[in-house]
Amino acid sequence: MAEDSEDPMDAAQSLLSLSTLKMRKARKPELDENEDKEVRRKMKQLGRKMDQRGMKLQYTEDDTVYFDDVAGIGNAKFEVMEVVDFFTSPDRFRQSGARIPRGVLLCGPPGCGKTLLARAVAGEAGANFLSVNASEFVEMFIGVGASRVRDLFQEARKAAPAIVFIDEIDAVGRIRGGAMGNDERDQTVNQLLSELDGFNSKDADIVVMAATNRRDVLDPALIRAGRFDRIIYVPLPDFNGRIEILQVYLKQHPTTGDIDLREIAFETQRFSGAGIANLVNAAAIMAGKANSGTIRHKDLLAALAYERLGPDRQPYEGARQKRLAVQEAATCLVATLMPAIEPVVHVTIIPREKYPMGQTVLKVNEQRELTQQFTQRYLEEQLLMVLAARAAEELEFGPDEMSTINQRRLVMARRIVQKLMVSSAIDPPEGVGNRTLSNPRRYGRVLKQVVLPRVTTQTYENVEAAMEKRLNAAYAEVKEMLERNRKALTALIDSLVENNQLTGEQVREIIDRHAAKSDLRRRREQAAEFL
Ligand code: ADP
Repeated sequence: MAEDSEDPMDAAQSLLSLSTLKMRKARKPELDENEDKEVRRKMKQLGRKMDQRGMKLQYTEDDTVYFDDVAGIGNAKFEVMEVVDFFTSPDRFRQSGARIPRGVLLCGPPGCGKTLLARAVAGEAGANFLSVNASEFVEMFIGVGASRVRDLFQEARKAAPAIVFIDEIDAVGRIRGGAMGNDERDQTVNQLLSELDGFNSKDADIVVMAATNRRDVLDPALIRAGRFDRIIYVPLPDFNGRIEILQVYLKQHPTTGDIDLREIAFETQRFSGAGIANLVNAAAIMAGKANSGTIRHKDLLAALAYERLGPDRQPYEGARQKRLAVQEAATCLVATLMPAIEPVVHVTIIPREKYPMGQTVLKVNEQRELTQQFTQRYLEEQLLMVLAARAAEELEFGPDEMSTINQRRLVMARRIVQKLMVSSAIDPPEGVGNRTLSNPRRYGRVLKQVVLPRVTTQTYENVEAAMEKRLNAAYAEVKEMLERNRKALTALIDSLVENNQLTGEQVREIIDRHAAKSDLRRRREQAAEFL
């Protein structure tokens, strides 16, 4: 490789040969056999010539993609339609007086389908697709990048109609000069700019598409009119987008009818298109292992858990296992007895690679999560639920034998009380009235409540005391509830110790058999839709 070579020219040459140009042939159904042969011959020729110049041409004829293969990208598909129109009906396009799209910049986070979209444009337009990664332009030898850009466009002209796709354009397109100046990069960008400027009507059947997730660092000269002047955002998919992408990938496998796309879409918040594609793939592998090959809802959930928590670890034994069982038994017991809390789906105390604790999984409540509207009642019940584990630990092991495993839940409890009394003023402390005492402020990705500066120390202290009182009252309440339902708690603990996990139905069955009649009645009478 370059570093080992003595002769700088050799080194330059070997670096040059790293450059790979990928090319996908346009699929034109009407191409007859002779024409097809001709295209192949030309491509071979092109490949040989590029080889001589140290660029590799990767030429693929299959896997053309179309718009149907790209899903959940909002308006981006409509926005690139213009490019397709331009290829498919150039005359109509010109007659309408529309400006010819020369450079289209696709911006957005990685894995959201920028490359896929560019390929689909080529697929729909029947154009060849040439792609390079801009990092291939960046070399330590001055002039190499610029000459590669020149080569690329020369080849593109021969392959026209064509789409030239430059991925990660920020690798070269960063703001030029300044303290971070880099001559090589400057030259490369200059060359790119001059190629874009140099497009004239006879080159009109080439469109350059570039992708970046760092629009902010791009040289403004690149996005000036006549260059990359169409900027299209390809965002992370939203809820409906995720459903669409799931549909695209699930269509490629046999599935059972029980798949709840909404739930999976819900659980995959902040996933990119690539992430969702991976998830379906992982589910297919799991379905294969389960020996049916047909993807069930269960497989998707298992794939999701795998993605988030990593593989299962060996279950704990003895005292450790018992602690986790006590925690989760109490949590699922209180969750089930509370009318406003969502039903339990699954309880487990099997440690996972990324998460050494147990967990109680509740059914997703789409409305609640989407609107982020919670009532006093729901928050109060949640408070009891998160305090349940600590209370149960105290009951089972005694106040002198508490452990550290409850810290996360205590933090949650404090947040709930804060929401109730301070930030939302749902149930403000005495003497404060209907006003919020804090403001949300963003720290990186975390939103924190910051107490307003005009709150006096006196008020602050009152509020602190009121919050503490409230937390302790809730703790006492949940402890009482667990004492009342000690039989159910013990049954759940035993069952978890024996099986390490329980389904929601198993949990409810145990509770219906052993819980206090008064609590069961209350749950029955009050179960209704809650905010
Ligand atoms: P980007 O160029 O934005 O980093 P890619 O287009 O390379 O992302 O996406 C990688 C892969 O993820 C694609 O080949 C495709 O399989 C899948 N993918 C990403 N976004 C989408 C989408 N919106 N619709 C369908 N598949 C997608």
